[in-house]
Amino acid sequence: MEIKRNILLNPGPATTTDTVKLAQLVPDICPREREFAGLMAGLREDLVRVVHGNPAQYTAVLFCGSGTLCMDVCLNSLLPEGKKALIVHNGAYSARAVEICRSYGLPHIDLALPYDRPADLAAVEEALRANSDVALVYATHNETGTGLLNPVRELGALAHACGAVFVTDTTSTYAMRPIHIEEDNIDFCMASAQKGLMAMTGLSFVIGRRDLIEASKDYPRRSYYANLFRQYDCFERTGEIEFTPPVQTVYAAIQAMKEYWAEGEQAKWARHSQVMEAIHAGLEALGFREAIRGEWQAGLVAAVRCPDDPNWSFERVHDYCYARGFTIYPGKAGTAGTFRLCALGAIGAGDIEDFFAVFRQALDACGVALPVRYDR
Ligand SMILES: *Cc1c(COP(=O)(O)O)cnc(C)c1O
Repeated sequence: MEIKRNILLNPGPATTTDTVKLAQLVPDICPREREFAGLMAGLREDLVRVVHGNPAQYTAVLFCGSGTLCMDVCLNSLLPEGKKALIVHNGAYSARAVEICRSYGLPHIDLALPYDRPADLAAVEEALRANSDVALVYATHNETGTGLLNPVRELGALAHACGAVFVTDTTSTYAMRPIHIEEDNIDFCMASAQKGLMAMTGLSFVIGRRDLIEASKDYPRRSYYANLFRQYDCFERTGEIEFTPPVQTVYAAIQAMKEYWAEGEQAKWARHSQVMEAIHAGLEALGFREAIRGEWQAGLVAAVRCPDDPNWSFERVHDYCYARGFTIYPGKAGTAGTFRLCALGAIGAGDIEDFFAVFRQALDACGVALPVRYDR
């Protein structure tokens, strides 16, 4: 079977291998069969192994939904009655975490920090000192809107020094940038299958400490469908996802996991890094400037400032590239005036060279002068 290969430079879903795509073509099966529960048990263990967790202490809980569901689950499930969450807010994804707190009416501190630099540890420490009732600290590992990396190990240490649980959104780093859940002081992290794992959409997972999930049993049940203890408990008792799981997506994720181990953590990170280097080099050759200083980037997303050339049009450049098999992505609110090129997925540096040949043609077709012009 021939499947057209598209190069996705958006921040997920990512380009997948054909073997992962084809792993979805399986005989029909009822997900309540023991055979299917066994597949999920193996996948859950592997998800913990990816972040070097000890399976006696850490577990992976699967959910049917996109990555935002895991943010929702962690925030609504892990906050005891009468306590506060501290949201380290320096990008669009942590802004989303603040919105989740608001929509549940969760007591929280919105620690709003600049979007163009890593979270200021002194500000976090100060907020923790001023609020002794913080029981959960939340931060985003890689703010995918800008590609900014936050110092999660240090943030986790600050949370732990105050007896708070540390939750970090690793959706756009998991299975790409190496993570050691315990050494990195992470109690809970999360991702969805279509990003670093290079599998399909619809399956997401929270990875974290069993003892803390068990301790949350009697916390307020703020959601019926999306409660962490409830789904964990169902896995422990029956091996099943409580409500219907995304069956074929699970098969694809298992194949993607095999390919993850075959490529290897270090080799995979090296490949993503080579892709990102090729992106930086291609941008620089055309005169493009990035929004975040190089040393503050997580190495997976380049947020590029749109040039001031009056002929620049993201839509026209996008459409030109899209028609030729390359997908580029707009910026996010709060970082308007940017577009993004990402290094996720089953792609290599050669694909980026091919992309820049097309991108240059797109700029020519729009009449954008090179090198591109900035007025400020
Ligand atoms: C992709 C992503 C999510 C999840 O977004 P969905 O649109 O729900 O898939 C959450 N956090 C981060 C940092 C992400 O990159």
